[in-house]
Amino acid sequence: MIVVFSMAATIWLIGVAMKTPLQARLMMLGLLFVGVLAIHVVLPDGHPLREGTGGSAALWLIIAAAGGLAYGYSRIIKGLRERAAPVETPMQRVQRTETMGDVELERYARHIVLREIGGPGQSKLKRAKVLVVGAGGLGSPVLQYLSAAGVGTIGIIDDDKVEHTNLQRQTLHTDAATGMNKTASAEQSIHALNPYVVVKPYTRRLTEEIAEDLFDDYDLIIDGVDNQDTRRLINRTAVKLGLPVVHGAITQWEGQVAIWDPSFGGPCYNCIFPEDPAPGQALSCAEAGVLGPLPGMVGTMMAAEAIKRITGAGTPLIGSMMMMDALDAETRKIKVKRRADCAVCGKAKQ
Ligand SMILES: [Zn+2]
Repeated sequence: MIVVFSMAATIWLIGVAMKTPLQARLMMLGLLFVGVLAIHVVLPDGHPLREGTGGSAALWLIIAAAGGLAYGYSRIIKGLRERAAPVETPMQRVQRTETMGDVELERYARHIVLREIGGPGQSKLKRAKVLVVGAGGLGSPVLQYLSAAGVGTIGIIDDDKVEHTNLQRQTLHTDAATGMNKTASAEQSIHALNPYVVVKPYTRRLTEEIAEDLFDDYDLIIDGVDNQDTRRLINRTAVKLGLPVVHGAITQWEGQVAIWDPSFGGPCYNCIFPEDPAPGQALSCAEAGVLGPLPGMVGTMMAAEAIKRITGAGTPLIGSMMMMDALDAETRKIKVKRRADCAVCGKAKQ
C-alpha cells in the first residue's frame, strides 16, 4: 500500500519538477491505478504483490470513487459560481469604471504612443461629446473614424432613411439597413465597431427650435449636411454658443474642409459664404452626382480635424480651408479670414 502511494508521489513530484502538464501527470497516476487493479484481478489470492498493494481491489475502487466524487463536486461548484456572476459587457464595464480599462488601453494603443495624442489626449477623446449633423456621405466616415478613435459620446441627428442610392458612398449603412432610419443604422454600425462609445440618436430634422438646447450638450459640432439652410442654422447656433464646427462639403469631384471657430480667432461659415448661391448654381448630389470615395476623402479629413481640435494636436484648419479635387488629384490650402462686418459673428453682433 505504502509502496503504491510512494510511487504515485514520486510520479507526481517528477512531473512537477519536469513541468509536465497536469493532464500528463494525471494520466501517469491513472496508469499506475490501472496497473494496481490488474495485479488484483490477474494474480491469485495471497500473492505477495497483492498483499503488498493492500490485499484487495475493493480498497482501490473506493479510493477511485472518492476521487471521482470530489472532481464532480468541484465542477458543480465552479458551474454555480459562473452562473452567479454573469459576464459583464464592455459597455457595462466602462459605465462602471469610467476610466479606461486594459481592453480600451489596448484598443487605443496606437494613439497612445503618438506623442501629440498620448494618454492625456486619448482621455480627452473619451470625455469629448461630439454632435454629428447628418449621417449621410460625410457623416459616414466621420462617425466611423470618431467612434473607432474612442470619442466617448457621439450624438447623431438625421431624419432620413437609408436608401439604395445612398449605398454607393455612405459606407456606414449596409444593404440590409435599407429602409431603416439612418440614425438607427448608424448606431448599430458604431456599436459593432466600438461598444465603448455612447451613441445618442436624434431621428428628426435640426430646427431652430431645438438647435440651441441640443448643441449645448456638446463640445464640438460636425457639419455633414447637404443644404444651405441647415448649414446656416448650424453656424448661427454654434457661433452663439462659442462651439467649433468642423465643416465639410462635397459636389461631384470636389470637396472642402475647414473649422469655423470665431472664439479661436477664425472665421465662421457666414464670413466666407455670406450669400447663398443663385438658384440652379448649387446642385445637390442627386442632381449633379458625386464620386463614391469623395465623401470618404473629405470626411476622414474632418474626423482628423475633430480629433486634432479635441486633443490640441498640430495646427487645426482654423483660418484656412482645404480644397480637394479628386478628378485632377489636387489639394490646395487657402487662407480664410474672419470678417468684422459678418452678420453672424461680426462685431456688430457681439
Ligand atoms: Zn462670421
